[in-house]
Amino acid sequence: MSAEAITTDVLIIGAGAAGLMCAIEAGKRGRKVVVLDHADRPGKKILMSGGGRCNFTNLEISAGNFISHNPHFCKSALSRYTQWDFITLVDHYRIPWHERDLGKLFCDDSAKDILRMLLEECRQAQADIQLDCDVEAIEKKANQTFTVTTSRGQFQATSLVIASGGLSIPRMCASPLGYRVAEQFGHHLWPTTAGLVPFTLQSQDKQRLAALSGISVASVVSNARVQFRGNILFTHRGLSGPAILQISSYWKAGETITINLLPDLDVVVFVKTRQATQPNIKLKTLLAEVLPRRLIPAVLGEETANKPLQAFSQPRREALARQLQSWQIKPGGTEGYRTAEVTLGGVDCNELSSKTMESSKVAGLYFIGEVVDVTGWLGGYNFQWAWSSGWCAGQVV
Ligand SMILES: Cc1cc2nc3c(=O)[nH]c(=O)nc-3n(C[C@H](O)[C@H](O)[C@H](O)COP(=O)(O)OP(=O)(O)OC[C@H]3O[C@@H](n4cnc5c(N)ncnc54)[C@H](O)[C@@H]3O)c2cc1C
Repeated sequence: MSAEAITTDVLIIGAGAAGLMCAIEAGKRGRKVVVLDHADRPGKKILMSGGGRCNFTNLEISAGNFISHNPHFCKSALSRYTQWDFITLVDHYRIPWHERDLGKLFCDDSAKDILRMLLEECRQAQADIQLDCDVEAIEKKANQTFTVTTSRGQFQATSLVIASGGLSIPRMCASPLGYRVAEQFGHHLWPTTAGLVPFTLQSQDKQRLAALSGISVASVVSNARVQFRGNILFTHRGLSGPAILQISSYWKAGETITINLLPDLDVVVFVKTRQATQPNIKLKTLLAEVLPRRLIPAVLGEETANKPLQAFSQPRREALARQLQSWQIKPGGTEGYRTAEVTLGGVDCNELSSKTMESSKVAGLYFIGEVVDVTGWLGGYNFQWAWSSGWCAGQVV
């Protein structure tokens, strides 16, 4: 160890949501905290989150909103530091917020408010944040201290917290460091994949749907295991929108998804009723009352879309309902980590304490936030996991 090594109580790698929360809590307990980050600013993902307004939590949080190989693991942390605790903090800073889509809480003004709040809390807790700091090596010495060698010199501490996040959005400084550290210390990793990510389409669907770019439809999207209600958005690359992002976290390559484009309509009754009064109008004219006009021939084909209502016998009406309410699409793939909001998989929860996030293999080593195999749905759940897991570690490091 070089003479200039900085000794501290707690070293946290990653000045994102989880790392900052852990730094605040540990600092409040009087622990000397240093946070290291290779980015030039802390909390970059906080700033870009929720379209710049940070969906910082959700009013309804339960383990069912998270994906993990151990679905029970997140319960303890989420119940010890809840959405109400975070809302209290936000209210203490008088940050204006509002609820959208049943439970999702966003800043009225800017995600900057959340980051400013966290940095002010860090300042009060006297946590030292070192930016532009590349981690080169990590060792645990026989005297139970961790030594972290960086581009800014060596640091040593008895508690080392890995809060370096997942692989999503490399241009926002995402890196695999946390997974490498876990492997180095003998932890099992679940394979990582991109989650909350748009789908790309197979070439024939891409051609067929290219003209729909920009159209958004309130739908229910499902596979054999789950379903999500929300908008789908046609883009020039494929399919996006909240319901698509949600199902992407449950999608396996090669799987078909089912889209119900009219989840609140009895299509058979709708067509039959209007057949009686307007037998000669085209199907596409009728459907334009409930769907974007351009979408109709893309889903049904020009021929069907142009038929008069009187051409639809009961079996044809039923077939039509199936086409519109069980529209089958086999995505070509996903856009991957370039645009994904989260990374599924990661550090196996079964080798961490659910109460403290400490490794069961290496005393003094902690993993928090997205690097852990806990991934939330769209809707503020991922930040709540970062706050809750960071808070729990912050009580004990
Ligand atoms: C576009 C986008 C929008 C999102 N919107 C929302 C939302 O509205 N609501 C929600 O709940 N979730 C949202 N998320 C997800 C949420 O941002 C993450 O789940 C959350 O930030 C994870 O927190 P974390 O602290 O674990 O990781 P991060 O916040 O990613 O922080 C990790 C930190 O570690 C640093 N780091 C990484 N590698 C190294 C290294 N090698 N050396 C040093 N430092 C390193 C990074 O620079 C970063 O500062 C969004 C994600 C994206 C990409």
